[in-house]
Amino acid sequence: MTEKQVPFTKNQLEQIIEKHPTPFHIYDEKAILENARSIKKTFSWNEGFKEFFAVKACPNPYLMKMLKSEGFGSDCSSLPELLLSERVGITGEEIMFSSNDTPAEEFVKAKELGGIINLDDITHLPFLEEHAGLPDLICMRYNPGPLKDGNVIIGKPEEAKYGFTREQLFEGYRIARDKGVKRFGLHTMVASNELDAAYFVETAEILFNLVVDISQELGIRFEFVNIGGGIGIPYKLDQRPVDLNVVSSGVRDRYEKIIATNGLAPLAIYMECGRMITGPFGYLVTRVRHIKNTYKKFAGVDATMSDLMRPAIYGAYHHITVMGKENAPHDTVYDVTGSLCENIDKFAVARSLPALEPGDLLVIHDTGAHGYAMGFNYNGKLRSAELLLRENGDVLQIRRAETVNDYFATLDFDGLAHFTV
Ligand SMILES: *Cc1c(COP(=O)(O)O)cnc(C)c1O
Repeated sequence: MTEKQVPFTKNQLEQIIEKHPTPFHIYDEKAILENARSIKKTFSWNEGFKEFFAVKACPNPYLMKMLKSEGFGSDCSSLPELLLSERVGITGEEIMFSSNDTPAEEFVKAKELGGIINLDDITHLPFLEEHAGLPDLICMRYNPGPLKDGNVIIGKPEEAKYGFTREQLFEGYRIARDKGVKRFGLHTMVASNELDAAYFVETAEILFNLVVDISQELGIRFEFVNIGGGIGIPYKLDQRPVDLNVVSSGVRDRYEKIIATNGLAPLAIYMECGRMITGPFGYLVTRVRHIKNTYKKFAGVDATMSDLMRPAIYGAYHHITVMGKENAPHDTVYDVTGSLCENIDKFAVARSLPALEPGDLLVIHDTGAHGYAMGFNYNGKLRSAELLLRENGDVLQIRRAETVNDYFATLDFDGLAHFTV
């Protein structure tokens, strides 16, 4: 493959821009819904299967509501994410609350909403009891430590700040059982943006074996395992998506061998993916503002790393399509930059592209997850709008662009009148 597809033509895009100036992220509703349906179908052999969309990946109520309509819940890890879910009507056990270093008020809100509380540490058990009371259902996050290799984004599990050790899990479930907790789940997440299907099968296998060991030792019954998020997407042209059929059939095989044979079925399988749910179906649209030739060639665009941080912070590759020049030779090498006063504010470094000129429209791919969401206001850069390309071709603005008033909203200019130096 030499090019990635975009869900609009250059003419359609120019029409969208007449109403919605660049830069903006635009999400493809049809593709997101088709992908959601296909995930559900792939795991339908497991009766309780459920995906909880990781809200942090793309915290927009329209997308959350679309995914809710497909039976997805939400995976939250902060008070605003819990409140966002509540506003969208995602409550009760449609919420997975997978937080860490958690403040008391977040446990209180998660419990009030009836969400599934996924504890990150054994000391959170008495902390939760003190501040919110123990719920009927509790989940704990396992950190397998040196048992499992991590990957670049999360790092080695034993270095990671997340989760319980194996010994702490036995202790934690014992304490919870003795305090009257009746329903149990088990979670882990040790990789991010992982493209190897076998990795997720192995994760499920580790959790299934633990379910057997803990159930037998403590006489408790697990309702679900949550295999976490972290399924990767092919950002690069030579990468392939994770084959979910391979994940599903591998997990099913281990389920039969480990869970069913030990009489522990039914056990629901939960996932809390963000990236693979919306990532490939979002595009950052930006226009070339200036072309600069010094020691290198720079194409300065009207978006900045406040719209998409991944290239700057992880050196991540995001493919770029130059609209209308799809078939032109990629014979010119550019750094594609934003206007932030940080030299890392680049969407691409030394990228071969068709010769560019001011006014060219660039589509930066795979921005539907951890794109807009990671944005910030450093250097007074304002975050872009988010648009939804509807199934019928209409375009709906689902978040307006920030204005200077938003940037000033936390400042008190009236107070300044009383301030003397
Ligand atoms: C970030 C995160 C996710 C989602 O990760 P993706 O890579 O977007 O799938 C899920 N669960 C937890 C606990 C996370 O921190």
